[in-house]
Amino acid sequence: MTGRVRELIERLSAEHRLAEAEYAELIEGRTDEAAALLAEKAVAVRKAIYGNAVFTRGLFEISNICKNDCLYCGIRRSNAAVARYRLSEADILACADEGYGLGFRTFVLQGGEDGFFTDAVLGGIVSALKRRHPDCAVTLSMGERSRESYQRLFDAGADRYLLRHETADAAHYARLHPPGMDWENRMRCLRDLKAIGYQVGCGFMVGSPFQTARHLAKDLKFIEAFQPDMCGIGPFIPHHETPFRDRPAGTLELTLYLLSILRLIHPPVLLPATTALGTIHPEGREKGILAGANVVMPNLSPVGVRKQYELYDNKICTGDESAQCRHCLEARMERIGYRLVVDRGDIAES
Ligand code: SAH
Repeated sequence: MTGRVRELIERLSAEHRLAEAEYAELIEGRTDEAAALLAEKAVAVRKAIYGNAVFTRGLFEISNICKNDCLYCGIRRSNAAVARYRLSEADILACADEGYGLGFRTFVLQGGEDGFFTDAVLGGIVSALKRRHPDCAVTLSMGERSRESYQRLFDAGADRYLLRHETADAAHYARLHPPGMDWENRMRCLRDLKAIGYQVGCGFMVGSPFQTARHLAKDLKFIEAFQPDMCGIGPFIPHHETPFRDRPAGTLELTLYLLSILRLIHPPVLLPATTALGTIHPEGREKGILAGANVVMPNLSPVGVRKQYELYDNKICTGDESAQCRHCLEARMERIGYRLVVDRGDIAES
């Protein structure tokens, strides 16, 4: 690695910030040696805060019905080849009861932008979940809504909201989304969620079509300023029924590099080793933890619908029972010296 890259890594690790152009330099100048140094520093800072604990979130993919047409996403409206489904409140509560028994203390409800889930319906599910499992956190990841809607869901008991910003560059956003989807609105949502008092997660895909080091540098600069509680990043993976079917997937190597950088930008941030990372490499999630991640989000959806929530091709774990996923991840984490904890997994005070 060059002296310059070493200097940037040392400064990032001491000051938790760099200039935007410096992030681009760090990305463009990356080598295996630089990645190893970043990972070492990221793991040390995460160990100082969280020890060897890895937090889990039980993920329910509650609907694959979506009014949007994001060019990268397998459940986009224009994909007529996917059988659409929606889970009922009873399905969700039954999955949560099972998840609770397996040691999950955070439930994430994710789905397409499905008009069925009005504030009354979704809020009703949130409050039912909180009544049944008051010691659990409920996270929503249901896309863009109005400030009033986010407020009602918060009042119903939702604790956290995940909404990846997808890219911090408006022109890049416009190349990943159809006309009518607006980067400004996505950013407005993130600001509203934070102002309301949610623990908020943003994030982006690594290697999305047209993405450059400059775009990634903007993402990092945005995250440095926004200070999210959570940040979800994973490789872009093409889906065969989308306009991006022939685009190359993002790489393991760059995703791991960025995970380490994110840990150093915001040491207490909750950083998942995502399913997409596990999809592009059989030990992707383990490698993610060893690069600085500290969260895993196994799927707790009923096995019968899992194949239909295929955002990208070859998604893993679509045939496994929830208990199998839990035990598989436990074993994977133990093999690398970590342990899954039974805990809500809130962000540490910084
Ligand atoms: N409707 C919700 C949930 C979207 S799915 C929302 O708008 O937030 C969750 C995330 O999956 C997306 O934010 C996107 O970053 C990611 N995703 C979608 N398609 C993908 C693909 N082909 N490869 C990798 N990640 C993808």
